Amino acid sequence: MTVALPALIDNFVDGRYAPPLTGNRAPNRNPATNSLAGELSMSGPEDVDAAVGAAHAALTGPWARWSVEERARVLERIADGIEARFSDLARLESIDTGKPIQTAQNVDIARAVSNFRFFAGAVRHTGSDAHPMQGALNYTLRQRLGVVALITPWNLPLYLLSWKVAPALAMGNTIVCKPSEMTPLTAHALGQIAVEAGLPPGVLNVIHGNGQDVGGPLCGHPLVKAISFTGGTVTGHKVASAAARSLKKSSLELGGKNPSLVFADCDIDRTVKGVLRASFANQGQVCLCGERLLVEEEIADEFVGRLAAGAKAIRVGDPLDPATEFGSQVSLAHRAKIEQYVQIARDEGGTVVAGGERPDLMSPWNAGAFYTPTIVTGLASSARAAREEIFGPVVTVHTFRRDDEAVVMANEVEYGLSASIWTSSLRRAHQMAEEIDAGTIWVNTWLKRDLRVPFGGMKASGVGREGGRYSLEFFSEPKNVCIDLT
Ligand code: NDP
Repeated sequence: MTVALPALIDNFVDGRYAPPLTGNRAPNRNPATNSLAGELSMSGPEDVDAAVGAAHAALTGPWARWSVEERARVLERIADGIEARFSDLARLESIDTGKPIQTAQNVDIARAVSNFRFFAGAVRHTGSDAHPMQGALNYTLRQRLGVVALITPWNLPLYLLSWKVAPALAMGNTIVCKPSEMTPLTAHALGQIAVEAGLPPGVLNVIHGNGQDVGGPLCGHPLVKAISFTGGTVTGHKVASAAARSLKKSSLELGGKNPSLVFADCDIDRTVKGVLRASFANQGQVCLCGERLLVEEEIADEFVGRLAAGAKAIRVGDPLDPATEFGSQVSLAHRAKIEQYVQIARDEGGTVVAGGERPDLMSPWNAGAFYTPTIVTGLASSARAAREEIFGPVVTVHTFRRDDEAVVMANEVEYGLSASIWTSSLRRAHQMAEEIDAGTIWVNTWLKRDLRVPFGGMKASGVGREGGRYSLEFFSEPKNVCIDLT
């Protein structure tokens, strides 16, 4: 089974691929070479309406009668379908995003498979509550919501989409997805995989296009019951407002400006490796990346020296070369934003000790959106480059002397998504974990993920949690039944 690069990236509505009703198309680009990678559907409200209509009709079709076991089996068949096309999907993800093929294989597509397998298992093992009382029995039914909207960003396209699609299907909902217009390829392929897995028409629909013409109308559509959104905080505000206006349930996974806290008692070899990964994985484009490095003063020079040497040694180049460790940013526009932030950091008095420039690459990659892993020292921790989410390979370094100072610095940004703490003291790790405002805390590691744990952010990083039972609960509605036994 193969998946070729499609010339036309059509919508997927009611079990079939179809051109957008708007008739509009836009080029989809490979950011590593700035070459064309298909023509994208630029849909509009009429396409949203057709997709929501199909999803709504499917709620009363055969899907409504599928048992939990049948739904779990279809999730497994979708996982099989992704696995059967593993290399092709990884290649598409790499072409669409500019990420190294090794990342697309080991992270993106591998995780998409596990998301479907995990939720197939999770839904089979989910029970519901009973509350016996004197003379009566209460029990809780967990029922599907109906049509749900899933809106996802470009950094981990199929990984994040499948993180929502799998639990939404597990609980019996029907879906309209809106992937990022910048990275439509693997979401496009998911339609065919779902058909082959035997998902009834209309249960999964994918509409391509931009936030204004597709995302907005989808969030406001009266037949949509809930919105699961992953993206930036500014867009998150708009989604939350649309959800509030029509009283929809929403889950918001938003931006981050995550600290990596390095203490003098850490295992320095392990910490350099871990912090390099936390700083530059996926070209710094993971919401959980550590863009703020807080280092205890007594080891700062040594640590930053080793980190800078590590950053300079990262192999940057052709994303499709299996030896490449670091690919291109997602677009030329995103690289321009990163460059602007590095300029702001310089203007604020920062010193660039690694990177801070475009790499010197041959054609065709010299036309791509590449930028080198960058480390900036000498900025106040309240400087703009240290406080605002850059979402690229730029880390600012700040020093502290005492634990309480480190906590203040970790918490002084508006975000609260994650933090990593590097220390050999269990007491200190516990203390820090309690005091830092973030939805996920890692100790001596980064991005170690168990799919059962609650995932989400505090403060401007989001509202709600996904993962394991939190996702199954989000995509369902509890209904209490009280039986009088007297
Ligand atoms: P955006 O917020 O720009 O976009 C996210 C999605 O929302 C896209 O599909 C976008 O469409 C869509 N969208 C845009 N406007 C609207 C609207 N008015 N209504 C509904 N949908 C809309 O984020 P990016 O794609 O730039 O992704 C990067 C951001 O995502 C970063 O801030 C990052 O931290 C965050 N993120 C958070 C994660 C988490 O789990 N907390 C995980 C991964 C990323 P389009 O772009 O096609 O116009």
